[in-house]
Amino acid sequence: TQQWDYSYDVVVVGSGNGGLTAALCSYEMGARDVLVVEKSDLYGGTSSISGGGVWIPGNRYARAAGAEDSVEKARTYLRQLITEEEVPDYQLDAFLENGPKMVDFLHQRTRVRYVTLEHYPDYYTNLEGAMEGHRSMEPETFAASELGSEWQRLRRTHPMMHLGGRIGFTQVEAALLIGQQPGWWKTAVKLVADYLLDIPWRLRDKYHRRLATGCAGVARLRASMQDRDIPLWLNTPMKRIIDEEGVVLGIEVVRNGETLRIQARKGVVLAAGGFEHNQAMREQYLPRPTDHRWSAGTLDNTGDAILEGQRLGAKMHLMDGAWWCNTISVPGEEIPRLSIMEKSYPGSIVVNPAGERFGNESQNYMAFQLETFEKHTEENPCIPSWQIFDANFRANYFVGPLYTSAFRPDWAIPARYEQEGFFAKADTITELASKIDVDPQGLATSVAKMNEYAVTGTDLDFHRGDSAYDRYYGDPRVSPNPCLAPIDKPPYYAMRVDPGDFGTQGGMVCNADAQVLREDGSVIQGLYAIGNCSAPTLPCYPGPGSTLGPAMTFAYQAAKAITGYR
Ligand code: FAD
Repeated sequence: TQQWDYSYDVVVVGSGNGGLTAALCSYEMGARDVLVVEKSDLYGGTSSISGGGVWIPGNRYARAAGAEDSVEKARTYLRQLITEEEVPDYQLDAFLENGPKMVDFLHQRTRVRYVTLEHYPDYYTNLEGAMEGHRSMEPETFAASELGSEWQRLRRTHPMMHLGGRIGFTQVEAALLIGQQPGWWKTAVKLVADYLLDIPWRLRDKYHRRLATGCAGVARLRASMQDRDIPLWLNTPMKRIIDEEGVVLGIEVVRNGETLRIQARKGVVLAAGGFEHNQAMREQYLPRPTDHRWSAGTLDNTGDAILEGQRLGAKMHLMDGAWWCNTISVPGEEIPRLSIMEKSYPGSIVVNPAGERFGNESQNYMAFQLETFEKHTEENPCIPSWQIFDANFRANYFVGPLYTSAFRPDWAIPARYEQEGFFAKADTITELASKIDVDPQGLATSVAKMNEYAVTGTDLDFHRGDSAYDRYYGDPRVSPNPCLAPIDKPPYYAMRVDPGDFGTQGGMVCNADAQVLREDGSVIQGLYAIGNCSAPTLPCYPGPGSTLGPAMTFAYQAAKAITGYR
C-alpha cells in the first residue's frame, strides 16, 4: 500500500486555462477536494500571457446573433484542413459538440465571461463552412483587485499587449490601436486617463487594475476557484506520476524543498503545457533550425508531463508540430513578441537573405510559418528573415518595440537593437541590404515589385490581400488593396523575424473524455491530459483561439468523466 502526504479527489498539474477549467468544473460537478499544483511562482502559464481568445463554433453569442453556424458547418470547414489521421472523428466531434456547452456551463455558474469577436474571421475564409466572425471570443476585462492578495502572483499578459508596458488592452482595442484605425486615439486617451486617475491602485501596482486578454481569462477562472476555496499551490513542480499495475494513483511533487506524495482518488489531470522550452526535445521532434529562445511560450513549459506520459506508455501524436508564429526577439526582453498585425499592414514585406519574399505576409501566422519551413533549404535559406518598411509605415503603424515614429522617434530606439543584429536603418534600400547581409539586387527588385502591386492592387506573387482574413489586419484607408502600399519613403528600416512559436502542439493521445491512451488504444486509468501536453484538436489553427478553445473543452470533458456528471 502507498503512503500519502495529502489526499484529494482530483489533482490538476498546471494552472493555464485548461488546468483551472478542469479544477473548477470538477468542483462544480461534485468533486469537493480539488488541488492545482503549479511549477512556477506565478499562475496562468502561457494562457495568461496570451490573447485569451477561444474558438468555439456555435457559441452562445453566435446563437443569440442568429449567426448561421452549426456543428455540421464547422466540421465541413475543419475537414478540409485536418485529416482523420491527424485528428480522429471522435475527438473533433467531442470538441464541436461540447465547446458551446462548456462556455454555457462556466457562464451560468462562475465568474467566467467571454465577449464575442463579431468581426474576427476564421483563418481560411476561402473554404466552405468558414465564418467571417462570431466563432471566437475574448475574456471580458476583470479588476485585478478582485483577486485579493493573489493579484501579485498572476502572470501578466505579454508586454506587447500593454500600452507603455502597463496598460493592458483587449483584442478589439488592439486592432484599433496598433493599426491607428479611426477613433484609435480616443481609445488610447481613455485607457491612459483611467489608468492615471486610479491613484489608489497605482500606489499598489505598476499595472492597470483593469486586466484584459489572457490574464483576464485566467483571473476570472482563479477568482471563481477562490469563491469555492479551491487551493492552488505555486512553486510545486510535479516530478513523477505514481501508478500501480497501470492505474494512476497520484503524483509526486517538490514543495518547499520537500518531496511530497499526493493521492488523487478520482484522477490526475495533466495540463502542464508543451515542450517549447526543452531544447533537446525540440531538436528531437521539430523541424530544424529550432531554438527555444524563439518561443513565446512560458519558460516553465519543458515537456515534463509529456515525458512522464511517455514513461507510462502513453501514445504520442503530432510531435513535430507547434503553434507556429513569427516572433521578434527584442534585445533585453525575456520572451519574444509575436509578429502578427505589423507583418500584415500595407507598406512592408518580409524577405529572405536573397532579398526575396517567400509568402503572403498577411495570411495567418501559422500558415506563413509553415510556408517558411517548406521553402527553407540550404540553397535557398529563409531563416533568418527580415521585415522591410519605410518612413511612412513607421509613421502609421505600431511595429513591435519601435512603436510608431511619433511614440518612439528614431533617436530614442536603443542602440543595442542595431548592435545586436535585430534592427537596421538606412537612407537607401541598397545600404539597408548591406547592413543586414541581404542581397541588394534581390531586395531592390522585391521592393520595386511591391510598389507596382500597390498601384494595381494585385500581388501577382502571393495574392496578399485577396482573402477576408488578410484584410482583417489590413488598413481600410489604403486602396485599392488594404494590404498593399509602396515602400518608397526614406529612411528604410529592417527588423529581424524568427521562425518562432507560442507553444508546441504534439502530445498524449486521449479519448473523447480526455483519458490518456496507450499505444494499443487501452485507457491509462486515472490519467487525463488536456492542452498542449495532449495531441492537438485543431493542429491547422483554423481560427483565433484554436488552442484555448479545445484546452477548456477537454477540461470540461475530463471533469464530467471524473465525476460521472451528466
Ligand atoms: P499553459 O497555459 O502554458 O499552462 C501550463 C502550466 O503548467 C504552466 O503554468 C507551467 O508552469 C505549468 N507546468 C509545467 N510543468 C509543470 C510541472 N512539472 N508541474 C506543475 N506545473 C507545471 N492561444 C489561443 O487559443 N488564443 C489566443 O488568443 C492566443 N494568444 C496567444 C498570444 C501569445 C502572446 C502567446 C505566447 C500565446 C497565445 N496563444 C493563444 C497560445 C496559448 O496561450 C497556449 O497554446 C495555451 O496557453 C496552452 O495552454 P496549456 O494549458 O496547455 O499551457
